[in-house]
Amino acid sequence: MERIVVVGASLAGLRACESLRTAGYTGTITLIGAERHEPYDRPPLSKALLKGEWEPERIRLRKPAELAGLDLDMRLGVVATGLDTADRAVTVDSGETLAGDGVIIATGSAPRRLPNQPDFDGVTVLRTLDDSLDLRRRLADAPRVAVIGAGFIGLEVAATASRSGCTVTVLEGAPAPLMRGLGALMGEVVTRVHARHGVDVRCGVQVAGIEGAGGRATGIRLGDGELVPAEVVVMGIGVAPVTQWLDDSGLELRDGVVCTEALRAAPGIYAAGDCARWVNGLFGETGEEMRVEHWTNAAEQGAAAATNLLAELAGAAPTPYAPVPFFWSDQFDSRIQFLGRAHGDDDDVQLVAGEPDGSFVALYGHAGRLRGVLGVNMPRMVMPYRKLLAERAPWELALRHASETQQQI
Ligand code: NAP
Repeated sequence: MERIVVVGASLAGLRACESLRTAGYTGTITLIGAERHEPYDRPPLSKALLKGEWEPERIRLRKPAELAGLDLDMRLGVVATGLDTADRAVTVDSGETLAGDGVIIATGSAPRRLPNQPDFDGVTVLRTLDDSLDLRRRLADAPRVAVIGAGFIGLEVAATASRSGCTVTVLEGAPAPLMRGLGALMGEVVTRVHARHGVDVRCGVQVAGIEGAGGRATGIRLGDGELVPAEVVVMGIGVAPVTQWLDDSGLELRDGVVCTEALRAAPGIYAAGDCARWVNGLFGETGEEMRVEHWTNAAEQGAAAATNLLAELAGAAPTPYAPVPFFWSDQFDSRIQFLGRAHGDDDDVQLVAGEPDGSFVALYGHAGRLRGVLGVNMPRMVMPYRKLLAERAPWELALRHASETQQQI
């Protein structure tokens, strides 16, 4: 048959296609993408593109000639609707069935929305290029902006909207921003970064509902009755993996496509990116099941899924995918970087360089081992910890490394 079907034409899907070609795969690669755009980069959607500093052309992941060089059977504006797992066949919304020797699932995730809210103009989410261009047009009028959720999208949009001259309020249910990931201590640091730039980050508040008049949003009603006025409301309350199309596939779905350590969901079927749930052998006593929603993982995991699919088709052994996760976030003049895993307040957190209200590095440990490293504007100090994390370094060794590095500075 000589065909591999890749479902999802964003970073993970594109990297899977590139890996297949780099490994010498000469069969047909069918790449299915629900959006009409060729693969583009999402990080600028909440920053440079939203601010109007960049235009869409600049966020293409590959130039037209590079895409042509991959010789893809690319189907854009096409939605996958089902998977026959035994036949490795994907059905799409036109009714066509695309069968292959293998399938890579890279359908990503979609924004959650507050349930039972009227559909007022001015209420948005931010996930796609079209979402970003729509929000950018709205921000041009310098509206009052209310952001629900102090996660990555919420905080990055808040920073960009504020820099665009909007009055911005962020409403978060938890006691601090980014708390589930980074813990309260570091969440408070982020609150102060925003406060210094005039963004009102209000944590521990309950959103009762979105209010509007004449079909347009006018604000957000809080649980205590207060109205936060806003003409633009951005919901940044997290995402859910896009797996509904797999409901009848027989694959195990549990907040993502459940895979082996080598990213295999079923024979000949692999998953990568936001929608993949797998066991990362680098963490925990016997590995830790995780789903990672960040750029670097999408890129690395797409490539790993392709490599392991080709290994299976060739009868070779797969390689477990056990990376040190990494993400970054730019908010005002702060570049936040995080290597590893953190579980909020379940970790030991120790500041090892700098000052919490400026540039700093903090280590996260658990059960006697280094588990994560957070840096704000200190990239050269953060990155060397990747090796220690990959070696599952003991906590004491990581602290010693920190003090030795400090002495060298
Ligand atoms: P997120 O990072 O999961 O954050 C969602 C936030 O909203 C959490 O703090 C959550 O609190 C809060 N929340 C949930 N329901 C709420 C409610 N009803 N009222 C107030 N707050 C509520 O998700 P996101 O910010 O929407 O980002 C979407 C995706 O894009 C994520 O996958 C993210 O990783 C990705 N992204 C990444 C980057 C980056 O890596 N730099 C940048 C932008 C986006 P709880 O945790 O307590 O539920």
